[in-house]
This record gives sequence, structure tokens and C-alpha cells, in this order.
Amino acid sequence: MSIVRATTENIRAAARIIQAGGVVVMPTETVYGLACNATDDKAVQRVFEIKGRPAANPLIVHVASVEEVGRVAESVPDILGVLAARFWPGPLTVVLAKRPSIPYRTTGGLDTVAVRVPAHPIALALIRESQCPIAAPSANLFSELSVTKAENIDPRIEAEVGMILDGGPCEVGVESTVLDLTGEEPEILRPGGVSRADIQAVLGKPLGIVPPPTVRKSPGLYRRHYAPRASVRLVDSIRPGEPGLTFQQPTSDSQIRMPLDPRAYAANLYSSLKKLDDMGFDEFGVELPPDTQEWEAVRDRLRKASST
Ligand code: AMP
Ligand code: MG
Repeated sequence: MSIVRATTENIRAAARIIQAGGVVVMPTETVYGLACNATDDKAVQRVFEIKGRPAANPLIVHVASVEEVGRVAESVPDILGVLAARFWPGPLTVVLAKRPSIPYRTTGGLDTVAVRVPAHPIALALIRESQCPIAAPSANLFSELSVTKAENIDPRIEAEVGMILDGGPCEVGVESTVLDLTGEEPEILRPGGVSRADIQAVLGKPLGIVPPPTVRKSPGLYRRHYAPRASVRLVDSIRPGEPGLTFQQPTSDSQIRMPLDPRAYAANLYSSLKKLDDMGFDEFGVELPPDTQEWEAVRDRLRKASST
């Protein structure tokens, strides 16, 4: 299926595919998503198959408004109202107790469901038009680079979906922050598009520094993930002429200069790694951004991309 412009007509056609149990690619503000009806066990199974994603790795469910969270979650804690007022629509995912209408296939066998309201007009229009919650993991093969531009979607994904809606480049560029609200205290399971500092400011208290989430709590956290084909070497400073991502003035065509601003860096991260990968190097260097809270999500993705 070729990539189409996200006109009203094409969004309607995509919604019909979803209602019929099919799979489409939709843009979100974080990354492109492989979208299907989150309540349709067979459609969700198809998404796992297309990605080659392990069955225990749960999907995030997308709804169009905070009012719709009740369709997927059993009970909605008060704190969600506060968080939603500040961060939704946007790249914050919350984990809540699931409703029976959400199949275990979607949640990787867990009794909880991860849910968010995406800040992308095309994603929101598609959810509304489909009239169902939409499960949408990133539109890439398991453990490979996420996609932030429609033209970077792998042909093997393209061959399997009913439609690819082009929404231009994704503005945030890294996946959502996953915040678990099922325990006594909120806990970040995955850093992402909303910073720890911003969540703490809204909660009015620091989020405890917890050990890395256990496999049971967030089964989708793998050591190697978001990875290009080439091996990635994390360095303080790349060598002259060495291919890679740098904060300095590039000294060759195979060096890409990255912004020293975490948001701008995140927006360019996956497409820059893809550019280097497409140049065919077996290995390239990436200069590590500062070890500060605002870089937490980018550093997390870089560490995973460099894991072997
Ligand atoms: P993505 O791969 O970007 O679609 O993000 C999905 C990730 O969110 C998973 O890999 C998990 O780490 C996390 N997640 C999704 N659902 C749950 C859940 N019910 N409980 C805990 N973590 C979840
Ligand atoms: Mg993913």
C-alpha cells in the first residue's frame, strides 16, 4: 500500500479498514503507529505478527479524550484529571486497571492497560471516525528504529497494512513517557516525551527514584531496542571523520550535527540514525548528551540503540 495524504476522505477510508479489523499506519506526535481496533483480538494479533513483537509486550491504547478513558480502564483515579489537564493531548501514557472489553492480547496478558490521548489532529480524527480505542505500537519491526517520517516506513510493514496516512514529520520524535498509576505512588516505567521534571511539577512532589522497572511491571522494556542495523558506539566525542552524530561542526559528510536542545534532538533522533544506517556503515559513533534530567528520554533511547 502506498503512502497517502491524510485527507478527510482518506481518514474515513482508514477508519473503515480499522472497523473491519484491518491495520493502518497513522501519524502521532511521538512516532508513527501501527493502528488497529484495541478491542479486536484478531486485529491486535495481526499487529503483533506484522511487527514480530513478542506477545508479552503490551500495546498502548489511544483514545480521543480523557472522558473516553473509562471505555478502556476499570477505574479512573483523581490524579489522572490533574495530569490530563496539563499533558493531554500529549506524549504521556498512563497505566490503569483494564476493563474486560480490552483483550489480554492487547495488554500482553496483564490486568492493566496503558492509555493516552495523542496530540495529533490526524490520529484524533482517526480515533473519532473509527469509534473505537486504537492500539498503536510504533510502525517498525520489533527492536528496530522507530519511524518519525512516513517515507522511512520499512517496506515489509508497508506491504502488510491497508493504508499509510502521511502526517509529515513527528514533532516530538520519541515515544511517550509511561507512568504507572496502579501502585501506591505514580512511577515512571519508561522515560519519554514528557519530562520527569514536568510530571513532578504537576504532582507537587518528586517521583521516587525507583530501580529500573521489573520485567513483570513493564514487559516491553528490552535492553536492545530502537536500534539501527549498524552498531552504535556511545562516545564523549567522535573522532575526526568518523561517521556518527555529533554536537560539533561536522568534519565529513558522514557526520550529522545534532542540536544541543533535548526537544530538537529528540525530533531528529530516529531520522538521523536512519540516515547514517542508509549510508551503509557497520558502526558509527554517537556523542552522548549531558547526563541531566531533560535528556533522560534521549539518553535512554541511545543506550538501547547501542546495546548488543
Ligand atoms: P510502544 O512499544 O512504544 O508501543 O510502547 C509500549 C510500551 O509501553 C511497552 O513496551 C511497555 O513498556 C509499556 N506498557 C504498555 N502497556 C503496559 C502495561 N499495561 N503495563 C506496563 N507497561 C506497559
Ligand atoms: Mg516501539
